[in-house]
Amino acid sequence: MASKHGLFGEVDNRSDGVSVIVQGDLKTIDLFGNDILQYAPPASQIKSIEIKSTQIGIYNSFRITGSKTIENQITEISPDIAVCNDCLEDMESDPDRIDYPFVNCTNCGPRFTIIEGLPYDRQKTTMKSFRMCESCNSEYNDILNRRFHAQPIACNSCGPFYHYKDSLKRLTDIRLILQEVSLQIASGKTVAIKGLGGYHLMCDALNDNAVSEMRQKKQRDSKPFAVMFRDIPAAKKYCYIDEAEEKEIKSWRRPILILKQRENLSPSVNKGLNTIGAMLPYMPVHYMLFKSLRTPAVVLTSGNISDEPIITDDQMAERQLMSIADSFLSYNRQIFNRTDDSVIRIINQKVSVFRRSRGFVPRPVDLKYSVEGIIAFGAEQKNSFCIGKGNQAVMSQYIGDLKNPATYNFFCETIDRFSDIFRFRPELIACDLHPQYLSTHYAELFENELNIPLIRVQHHHAHIASCMAEHGLDEEIIGVSLDGTGFGSDGNIWGGEFLIADLKGFTRFKYFDYVPMPGGEKAVDEPWRMAYSYIFKYFGESFDYESVSLFKSIDKKKLSVIKEMLVNKINTPLTSGAGRLFDAVSAIIGLCPEAIFDSEAPMRLESAIDCETNDFYPFQTDNTIVFADTIKAIIEDLPKQKKSVISAKFHNTVAQAILEVSKQIRKEKSLNKVILSGGVFQNKYLLEKSQYLLSRNRFKVFTNHLVPANDGGISLGQIVIASKMRK
Ligand code: ZN
Ligand code: FE
Repeated sequence: MASKHGLFGEVDNRSDGVSVIVQGDLKTIDLFGNDILQYAPPASQIKSIEIKSTQIGIYNSFRITGSKTIENQITEISPDIAVCNDCLEDMESDPDRIDYPFVNCTNCGPRFTIIEGLPYDRQKTTMKSFRMCESCNSEYNDILNRRFHAQPIACNSCGPFYHYKDSLKRLTDIRLILQEVSLQIASGKTVAIKGLGGYHLMCDALNDNAVSEMRQKKQRDSKPFAVMFRDIPAAKKYCYIDEAEEKEIKSWRRPILILKQRENLSPSVNKGLNTIGAMLPYMPVHYMLFKSLRTPAVVLTSGNISDEPIITDDQMAERQLMSIADSFLSYNRQIFNRTDDSVIRIINQKVSVFRRSRGFVPRPVDLKYSVEGIIAFGAEQKNSFCIGKGNQAVMSQYIGDLKNPATYNFFCETIDRFSDIFRFRPELIACDLHPQYLSTHYAELFENELNIPLIRVQHHHAHIASCMAEHGLDEEIIGVSLDGTGFGSDGNIWGGEFLIADLKGFTRFKYFDYVPMPGGEKAVDEPWRMAYSYIFKYFGESFDYESVSLFKSIDKKKLSVIKEMLVNKINTPLTSGAGRLFDAVSAIIGLCPEAIFDSEAPMRLESAIDCETNDFYPFQTDNTIVFADTIKAIIEDLPKQKKSVISAKFHNTVAQAILEVSKQIRKEKSLNKVILSGGVFQNKYLLEKSQYLLSRNRFKVFTNHLVPANDGGISLGQIVIASKMRK
């Protein structure tokens, strides 16, 4: 760009940004500055431009000086970027790159997934085993070339390549491979295919036999599968896409975007939910495939058995996935950092991140204070951890449920890799208050081994702090934290919490009524137990349980066991979890008596809404928030109202409760900023409704956008709280 404007000088990549020196007249320098803003590569992030005039020597060219690595300081590592349009064109016109599926340039291609260390250059990536050919080398060194210093630069004669295998044959010619894969997909087969951050399984999303067979072999319950569409028109045929959604699904991050379904794919894709996790092609090979595929949509789900981490290792992939898939498509470049496809949803015109991984990681969250040397180990089920470098919090990719041993290994391995790549030296540890979380155990091991202090952070305080960190808030606020489960300071299970909090601490102003969970964790898998428990709590033994049709479908013996447990208070831990209330209501109206996957009951409850109403059910706020009247009214509504209406009215009730208690806090404490965080706020209907009601009542509302509102964002909250508690 400097050359285009005839400006001489130099540019230098530093740990704190980019420094450019140019000499010339002010007007040209101004135009140059504007061009930088306007034509910045899509994946770049210009936080600010500062211009200073200074005395310099005479330059007679523009040059790029080597980047300086200052000990312990880092330049940001780029997330992986979807292939750009220029590169797609090169696949048709550049003689060295015709149909070359590893084409990339400085604007696109793999980044985080192939990086082994810093500074970011080819020798520190898994591209190191490929020697650049002469022509790539000259592009790599040509300042005016789009591939100048593109570390993964490659072409047909020097770069990685795909290979294909099934029970009968092996292929290495990409054209033959694509033909074969298309045939397989068309005939209902499953193909294992190596992606950017791990292996995927792929089959025709319109072929119900293919999808249900894959589901069975993968041992995947009924959790919805993600779908890759050929292009935007294909996606629009099956999903409703508004402007904000179109922008995100097309963005260089290429996440899975949760969209409202318009037309049916195979019913086995989403098992009766009204949403589809949709994405567009992002690797060159995806584009090539859709050219030869007849179907406009394929299921593309992580290659693993049930809930293990996505497989990255080629040999393990072959061993494990060949039993699920009919054929195997791989390539000979190693994946160093495992990433899943990220999942987002547009709520209130803004991005809500549900799973933060490919395309997002490891971009840091900028803070106004130092978190240097702090490592926060996160929660358990949707674990991510976080390390502090200066004023930046670097979140790991989505790790998953630590109770799964393979996932726990992924957690340990990734902590080592992050420490290595970011040259991180821990001085302070943060973890959850829950004594049994595996992340807590790991934190305790770390504490003993390194002899550094450990700070335990209450789960819902961390949720609220994660959102405060995103918005640069460091003051007392109203924190509404609704989720399923979190360990409370009183030893009970929390999750319907109204906190008055700052980054140092909190008081619990009010919470959802405690309700027993008959059978403990078992009640999470069987929402009918929570339905029974709520009714038992509010209306007792004498209630006519037979009058609710849900209980007619449950084994009489099971019901009496639950009743015994409740009467005698045996194995009935108390919970204020909002998730359990949603479970109970979902079960009472017959949507999900038993949950097969995580959060299924609340998802089905939200999915049932198909109407517009502002009506809500009665509720009480006393010392706690009491839903007795709500449950009573829902049961009365059952024979006369549609499920859709009952569900909408129930969601409105929770939103009204949020408003009501926020008003009480405002009255007492003169606070006006409300933070909404916790997994329940992944519910689009609830979050939009709550935000609307609060804003209309002149509250300032803050929600999560950079990190998940679910437990995947907990580690960010932990790290900022720890930084404030540090002596
Ligand atoms: Zn490109
Ligand atoms: Fe949580």
